[in-house]
Amino acid sequence: MNECMQAAADLPASIEACVIDLDGTLTVGEGLTRGAAELLAATRGAFVVLSNNSSHSPAGLADELARLGLRVAAERIVLAGAETVRLLAAEQPGARVMLIASPVLERLATHAGLVSIDEQPDFVVLARDERFSYERLARAANALRRGAQLIAANADLTHPGPDGTIVPETGALFAALRACCPDIACRVIGKPEPCLFMQALRILGTRPERTLVIGDNPATDGLGAKRSGMPFLRVRDCDVTDTAAWVRAHIHPAGAAR
Ligand SMILES: [Mg+2]
Repeated sequence: MNECMQAAADLPASIEACVIDLDGTLTVGEGLTRGAAELLAATRGAFVVLSNNSSHSPAGLADELARLGLRVAAERIVLAGAETVRLLAAEQPGARVMLIASPVLERLATHAGLVSIDEQPDFVVLARDERFSYERLARAANALRRGAQLIAANADLTHPGPDGTIVPETGALFAALRACCPDIACRVIGKPEPCLFMQALRILGTRPERTLVIGDNPATDGLGAKRSGMPFLRVRDCDVTDTAAWVRAHIHPAGAAR
């Protein structure tokens, strides 16, 4: 019995759907993990892809996955950045927001009815922003000093890039902001917080205890699953072949995802 199947011994006898991590589970570097397409096929359509990605739109990521050979509808992709914008727009329609984010996320925010503004915003939204600068840091720190609320897409410090390079993430930008404003409170939307998992369950229409989280990172995927009442199966070495076989044998899709 290998490690994957040992972990599976603790799982429910039957599941209805899967919530599948992206980096390290379906993709690695600029390609697919071993068995990625098999895993999606094994779910018989009862899956959501969930990622702390804070720079893409679901539609943009669906296009990138299609280029790699994975067909995933944008409606089945839950991303930390896009979800941050969606949640804020739902809770605070028309809010005045300073966005430290990619141009793609800025467009999503405007489309959702948020007002993008750098002077006296009510909220500072922090996501992965490759244009982050001293000037933006100073503006955001002073907006917080004047009472704006901070929302971060995720707290990840880095993620691995091609050839082992380091890609600074949203958490690294937050660390710079916290160095300026040590006492600021921050609402985090991404894993391991439950927000994204709850949205995945709404899309799937399944109960948490019958919805399996599949991911490579116990600190984000595993802890997030635990906080959301969902079973977790860890994948290792960028190979989901065994995981796909387990899912195929144990899944009985139900509800909206059938
Ligand atoms: Mg991962």
